[in-house]
Amino acid sequence: MAHSHEDSNTRPPVSPKDPSQADLPTKNCGGASLSWWSNTLLTWYESHRRELPWRETCNPYTIWISEIILQQTRVAQGIDYFHRFIERFPDVRTLAEADEEEVLKLWQGLGYYSRARNLHAAARQMAEQGRFPHTYEDIRRLKGVGDYTAAAIASIAFGLPHAVVDGNVYRVLARYFGLHNPIDTTQGQKLFKELAATLLDARDPGRYNQAMMDFGAMQCTPMTPRCTSCPLSDGCWANANNATSQLPFKQKRTAVQHRYFAYLYIRTGEHILLRRRGKGDIWQGLYEPVVIEYDAHTPTEEELRRHPLLHDVLAASPLHLLAQNITHQLTHRHLHADFYVVDAPVETSIEGYTAVREELRTQYAIPRLVERLFEMVDRETSFPHTTESNQ
Ligand code: SF4
Repeated sequence: MAHSHEDSNTRPPVSPKDPSQADLPTKNCGGASLSWWSNTLLTWYESHRRELPWRETCNPYTIWISEIILQQTRVAQGIDYFHRFIERFPDVRTLAEADEEEVLKLWQGLGYYSRARNLHAAARQMAEQGRFPHTYEDIRRLKGVGDYTAAAIASIAFGLPHAVVDGNVYRVLARYFGLHNPIDTTQGQKLFKELAATLLDARDPGRYNQAMMDFGAMQCTPMTPRCTSCPLSDGCWANANNATSQLPFKQKRTAVQHRYFAYLYIRTGEHILLRRRGKGDIWQGLYEPVVIEYDAHTPTEEELRRHPLLHDVLAASPLHLLAQNITHQLTHRHLHADFYVVDAPVETSIEGYTAVREELRTQYAIPRLVERLFEMVDRETSFPHTTESNQ
């Protein structure tokens, strides 16, 4: 099928459907259109479902951990982390009793570290309450748990009738029903939530929700949906109108912020200078070497030498450029970084940074960008240990 390549953020050339006019599927069901929809999805699910380790259980703790990992991580990458996490923290109590630093270290490489901090905080919440919450509302109150995750846990672990609504679900519903209501507005989201709740199969909400998740992730994919082999294709509005690339519809594009860093790996004899990042910015609680950030470009060597934090250090020690214009993508942020190595005198110190033994640096949780710096330093200097890679 030929798909339009129009920008999905431009308003499509058709009027949005009135939400109340959304047609439910009506095939082969003798009036039981909802069960046709659900049966079609569940039949598809039986033969296409992904075999995932957390699908073998109804344990809410395990399901919670898997859902948090999968919030912003692909399944293929998440599985290893899931196994390691469950092995080290098999239950709420072990997670609640751990240090936050250990939790962050185990999370290293997954990104979106607030997930790990929230998991830890929520485990402490539950340890105080003495059990895993049993209702949607109480699950929703856990730190880091939004509507989607609460619905997933409530339905899969406890069989409660709450429909999941995420990017996958928006996509399937928007395309099938031809809904052009913007998914980045409160009103649009409300409509999709109501429709998802109407379609939910209350006989087995957990299985139905997982079928929706897998269908969106594997069949009705963002870029190249498999419409020719889709069991919903006959009644699908987007398929009939060659409009899969237009849906789901978003009202506004989120601006990407560019940030520019110079990272200096400052060695003082057997130590390097590290600091822990503070609150209110990316990578909260993770460690990093000396960093200088500029607004519009990565600082030049001259600017680094003049910088008040580095002036004295760089007057006495040469600056060795390791790599230039390393890029790293975060959601809505594009990071640009230059990497430097400085061999400074043993007594060197910089305000806000601590000297830690270089050979112990792998014990600190670091963001992926810093991990890349460490890997380059190791290659450059043939340092005897290598940083553990989680990618
Ligand atoms: S026919 Fe295509 S667009 Fe419609 S639900 Fe199936 S995969 Fe998605």
